[in-house]
Amino acid sequence: MIIFKTISQIRNHIFKLKKQGKTIGFVPTMGCLHDGHLSLVRAAKKETDIVVVSIFVNPIQFGPKEDLKKYPKNLSRDIKFLENEDADILFLPSARQMHKNQLTFVEVDKLGKVLCGRTRPGHFRGVATVVTKLFNIAQPDIAYFGQKDAQQLIIIKKMCRDLNFPIKIKGLPIVRERNNLAMSSRNSYLTPQEKADAAVLYNSLLLAKKLISSVEKNSLTVKAKMRKLINKVPSINLDYIEIVNPNNLEPVSKINGRVLIAVAAWVGKTRLIDNILC
Ligand code: AMP
Repeated sequence: MIIFKTISQIRNHIFKLKKQGKTIGFVPTMGCLHDGHLSLVRAAKKETDIVVVSIFVNPIQFGPKEDLKKYPKNLSRDIKFLENEDADILFLPSARQMHKNQLTFVEVDKLGKVLCGRTRPGHFRGVATVVTKLFNIAQPDIAYFGQKDAQQLIIIKKMCRDLNFPIKIKGLPIVRERNNLAMSSRNSYLTPQEKADAAVLYNSLLLAKKLISSVEKNSLTVKAKMRKLINKVPSINLDYIEIVNPNNLEPVSKINGRVLIAVAAWVGKTRLIDNILC
């Protein structure tokens, strides 16, 4: 695996690969890799000639009171994991290189203002901006994202359509821990007790799925039952439960088609998200 730390170096290399007709698969991450990230690398490995992974803890997607400074890092382990998966290129830019004196930003308007956007204003603007930059640098044919960050995936797909990026965006299923908690780099903040408690988030999504597939079509009732289950666990503080149209994130009150059920909550001091499509 070749590691590049500067934009000009990786650009030159990608230019040569493209000239040889190689297809590029791209997996953007913030590091502290786990099986969720690696599932994306594996998919890219199957479908493209050259797999580029980026590790960049993007400062402009963190709010002033969020965990930018303590975001978990484990670069030597990440490199080993990526070498095991036979990734071809790792891009490790510095924040200075990526955002110094930056005045241009990308915003996917209303999609970035709902769900997590309410609690994290500016977050999706930071994400869309950095993904745009990384796409321009890595020039992928296919880029791989996790369904874990469902809102992010929808926003990136829309951004690519709106701005005519010639890139196919692939969304891959959520990889989970043994207790069904969605894998996340932030799970490393959790105590064993908090990890066990956090399993209720997925259980609430399963409950919703069961209710909807039986008779319940009223979103308010489904959300109330989910809230009741989650509130039984005192260490958990709900941010939101939403039932929305998976294409445009608009709220659905009467469920008669496919919906995205998304939940966000603080477990102790750690904010976690999860979702299910049904
Ligand atoms: P992050 O490092 O958190 O920015 O995540 C990088 C990519 O990995 C994003 O596309 C995430 O959606 C994806 N990802 C993170 N956790 C998981 C998971 N548990 N299962 C599948 N994909 C994931």
